[in-house]
Amino acid sequence: MEGLPTKNNLRLRNIILSNSQLICPLCEFDLETEVHLFCWCKVTDSLWKRWWRTFQCPVVPPNSLGNLYLMKPV
Ligand SMILES: [Zn+2]
Repeated sequence: MEGLPTKNNLRLRNIILSNSQLICPLCEFDLETEVHLFCWCKVTDSLWKRWWRTFQCPVVPPNSLGNLYLMKPV
């Protein structure tokens, strides 16, 4: 997932230089990293839950990227 253009990865590539630009634009709470976007961001978490409810998927949200990879369709 290091290929995703998250703000943290853009900083590692010296594309973003300011720490003030690293905050997640969705929740404006934490650094935008892969783990934050897929596991901890309150905004994406609500979107995931809405998606799962719409399609009636009995899924527990992942708490790490490793768990995300282990998720299997029911
Ligand atoms: Zn966020």
